Amino acid sequence: MKIYNTLTRQKEEFKPIKDGEVGIYSCGPTVYSSPHIGNMYAYVCWDVLVRTLKYLGYKVNNVVNITDVGHLTSDADSGEDKMEKGSKKEGMTVWEIAKKYENEFLENLKELNIETPWKMPRATEHIAEQIELIKKNEANGFTYKTTDGIYFDTAKFSDYGKFANLNLEKLREGARVEINEEKKNPTDFALWKFSPTDVKRQMEWESPWGVGFPGWHIECTAMSTKYLGETFDIHTGGEDHINIHHTNEIAQGFGAFGKISANYWMHNAFITFGGSKISKSSGGLYTIFDLKEMGFDSLAYRYLVLGSHYRKGMEFSVESLKAAESAYKRLKKYVDNFYAKGGVISDTDDNYLNKFKEKISDDLATPEALAIVWEMMKSNITEAKKIGTLLKFDEVLGLNLKNISGIIEDIPQEISLLAEERQKARDEKNWAESDRLREVLKDKGYLVEDLKNTCKILKI
Ligand code: AMP
Ligand code: ZN
Repeated sequence: MKIYNTLTRQKEEFKPIKDGEVGIYSCGPTVYSSPHIGNMYAYVCWDVLVRTLKYLGYKVNNVVNITDVGHLTSDADSGEDKMEKGSKKEGMTVWEIAKKYENEFLENLKELNIETPWKMPRATEHIAEQIELIKKNEANGFTYKTTDGIYFDTAKFSDYGKFANLNLEKLREGARVEINEEKKNPTDFALWKFSPTDVKRQMEWESPWGVGFPGWHIECTAMSTKYLGETFDIHTGGEDHINIHHTNEIAQGFGAFGKISANYWMHNAFITFGGSKISKSSGGLYTIFDLKEMGFDSLAYRYLVLGSHYRKGMEFSVESLKAAESAYKRLKKYVDNFYAKGGVISDTDDNYLNKFKEKISDDLATPEALAIVWEMMKSNITEAKKIGTLLKFDEVLGLNLKNISGIIEDIPQEISLLAEERQKARDEKNWAESDRLREVLKDKGYLVEDLKNTCKILKI
């Protein structure tokens, strides 16, 4: 497997720390508002990474954290707290806001057929670990105290800025006016912030330095260390994280342990809309559920994402989503028709499996891998082999092609959902549940006929 490593700015052969096993940490969502298609683009990309590594035979331990501590709206450790802002806006406590949007994120994962990560730790449940890490940085001489918090002194880490190719001189010259006067360097960042004396925060904790809350970056280092160790294989995130968040993660990890936490750093490029970053003002700020309301299948969006390389990003438009949906439906129909005719998968095609593997293990070349899919579907190998090979590819693509919804087009959605749920139980060898659902379907007037990997639904 080859991976483009932001650390070295080149594609490298991936070598895991432990044979046959991979540890991955992906920066998770900040749960103060609904995740949009840009956020979910990132998580589809990293799901493809996880699936590819599993496909190649690795055991994958992937962590996606939940950022439920409020962070300040500005990267300069000032501004309003995002969670407190959300709480005021919606008239709920910050804890309720966090729960609400964490649940929404989980729903999004389901919609996009993103495999549930191995661990999904919450920042608020790892305050002690964050404090420990700050203490280590302090003991190693990397911190200083100001009136509003404990800061990391970036001048103490000689490689600070190397990761992001930051021009520190320029940064110093261009230091923003609002900058905290007590900071020794403009790039210094808060590890711990003290609660303001005049306002009561909803989220605050005791610490050796006083009541307050952690800075934004420390949680990721605390949780990656806890679940994956001081050094682990791959760290992922959006490219917006290179300059500040990941640069600071590297700095505080170095401050605590004297080494760089991850061996490979992968970053996804952004989705744009009308040529600019999606946002409230420039538009394109759809959620997956908005697209669903517009009549799209959520997996059509996943297909669209696969059609762009994660390091290129993509320009989103409803037109391009329509085109992706039509291609996705064609694939699904091939599979559905095959089973509707009572087809049985025989075999896979080694030639196409090899071609696909070559593309996907070349830094996740998903557009090329999709081209192989279509080349295979149009080839003259047997239909049974085509479907067998396609379903094997789907282990990486995650388009849920083997599920049965839509096999028979005029069955009610309630029935296809029940049948899908039953198929899932069957896949998990939960026979008691699948038998129960067979009875439920029967009561509603539908018979289920099991086929290999799928099933057929018949009206009684
Ligand atoms: P946040 O919840 O703001 O921390 O973002 C979650 C993830 O989504 C981060 O890894 C971001 O880099 C990523 N992200 C945010 N906006 C976009 C976008 N327009 N395109 C791709 N990724 C994005
Ligand atoms: Zn992070």
